[in-house]
Amino acid sequence: MSKGVKPLIPDTDVALIGAGIMSATLGIILKELNPNITIQVFERLDKAGMESSDAWNNAGTGHAAFCELNYTPQQADGFIDISKATKICEAYEVSKEFWSYLVEKKYVAASDFISQVPHMSFVWGTDNVDYLKKRYDLMHHNLLFSEMQYTEDRDQIAQWSPLIMRERSSREPVAATRVGGGTDVNFGELTRSLFKQLAKMPGVTIHYNIETLDIDPHKKGGWEVIVRNLLHEQKESCRAKFVFLGAGGATLSLLKKAEIKERNGYGGFPVSGLWLKCLNEELIQQHQAKVYGKASVGSPPMSVPHVDTRIIAGKKELLFGPFAGFSTKFLKGGSRFDLAKSIKSDNLFPMLSAGIRNLPLTKYLIDQVRLTHQDRVEVLREYVPVAQLKDWELKEAGQRVQVIKKDEGSGGKLEFGTEAVVSQDGSVAALLGASPGASTAAAIMFGILPRIFPQESKSTAWQNKLKEMAPSFGVSLSKDEGLVNETRKRTGAILGLQ
Ligand SMILES: Cc1cc2nc3c(=O)[nH]c(=O)nc-3n(C[C@H](O)[C@H](O)[C@H](O)COP(=O)(O)OP(=O)(O)OC[C@H]3O[C@@H](n4cnc5c(N)ncnc54)[C@H](O)[C@@H]3O)c2cc1C
Repeated sequence: MSKGVKPLIPDTDVALIGAGIMSATLGIILKELNPNITIQVFERLDKAGMESSDAWNNAGTGHAAFCELNYTPQQADGFIDISKATKICEAYEVSKEFWSYLVEKKYVAASDFISQVPHMSFVWGTDNVDYLKKRYDLMHHNLLFSEMQYTEDRDQIAQWSPLIMRERSSREPVAATRVGGGTDVNFGELTRSLFKQLAKMPGVTIHYNIETLDIDPHKKGGWEVIVRNLLHEQKESCRAKFVFLGAGGATLSLLKKAEIKERNGYGGFPVSGLWLKCLNEELIQQHQAKVYGKASVGSPPMSVPHVDTRIIAGKKELLFGPFAGFSTKFLKGGSRFDLAKSIKSDNLFPMLSAGIRNLPLTKYLIDQVRLTHQDRVEVLREYVPVAQLKDWELKEAGQRVQVIKKDEGSGGKLEFGTEAVVSQDGSVAALLGASPGASTAAAIMFGILPRIFPQESKSTAWQNKLKEMAPSFGVSLSKDEGLVNETRKRTGAILGLQ
């Protein structure tokens, strides 16, 4: 037992660190698989889902790769790779199946967290139009994207999204794709509903205002989770057989403290975000789509600008962004020393190497930080030519911590995806990174189960339950037309999507 720490919290099978969408998803899955499992949740804030998972802190896009051009990169020889898009789309179908299961169990109400909002990609300029056409030609032959429409017709685009075409110069060629069955998701509401449900389940205790400081090997086996009660400044501890680090941006700091060899070489680079939020009700009502553009040269993939219809607390909103910013914090409510404290001897070289190899990103961030409100509205006018300064205000988004990993060839590389780190014995798992993040939480958690509960995962009882929660998990939907249609019809009906 660590010095000055009281063992006040009972031993548990599972400790979930952080009450965001990742812990919520894993907690519910484990409880469904094994109703007797005991779970202790430790959250530093006084509510669940208030960091990255909160609706205002993320873009709420149900990432199905319908509109995000960064998921279909074009290589130097012109080849467009859609394999990442296919993977993300299949993972999102798993999320919709899992959410449908939760709705049928009456754990959540679909209308509280998911809405149908068409997903569009919109580009201008000959090269970009050429890219979008080629991408469409590849994608709409794939069963997952067969619903995608493509046009270069200005009137058709104006019908899909009047705001982006009004008063647009007719000199440049434009093109757009549209998938009517896209979604907007309020991950914050979903997270809070899931924790409400978890709190009602026997054997689950959710501790708010409790910050996790460290996890150490316990002398009797398992882990000693050392926490601080932020209301009483009292340190307490809890022994857990399995620990999940779902602390969002702060996961990296906790992973660096866990004594597992898999932590080595990981670093993180924080990028903060800002939205332009529309204040003009008429504009908000005129727009009904998530319109994703192409990232400018040198910018990180997650900074692709988009004009987004959002449904937050039952109200329609219109956001543009995200603009990137530089902050050394790992959480929106974190400390400015987070970045410095995360640098250790094992990740110093990968971080330096990644920094040197990503100088355009550094320049991009410096340029972004220097933007004034007027400059940002100028960027918005590339998408909404009629935008006026008075109609838009700045709103702070969440904090992302991009993963930096050791790389044999280059020393270190910056990753823009989401990564699960699991200790060799499966007793600790950590979730790093952001995009496609919350949208694929269910598939990520189903994916790590065999590594964290290897024996149970093989049992018939677990296998059957997993099939009930996510029938398409592990199946390649893109190769089975009947299954894609059947799956989408079923989840659409349950989630209130067409
Ligand atoms: C600007 C932006 C836009 C995004 N857009 C999208 C999108 O459109 N679609 C999408 O799917 N994803 C999007 N994401 C990513 C998505 O928001 C994240 O993947 C997801 O919310 C992460 O969930 P989480 O549970 O890991 O972390 P969080 O929601 O951040 O939860 C972590 C929790 O841990 C708590 N915590 C931290 N440290 C400790 C500690 N030491 N002890 C106890 N508790 C702790 C925090 O208070 C927090 O409640 C976006 C993210 C950002 C920042």
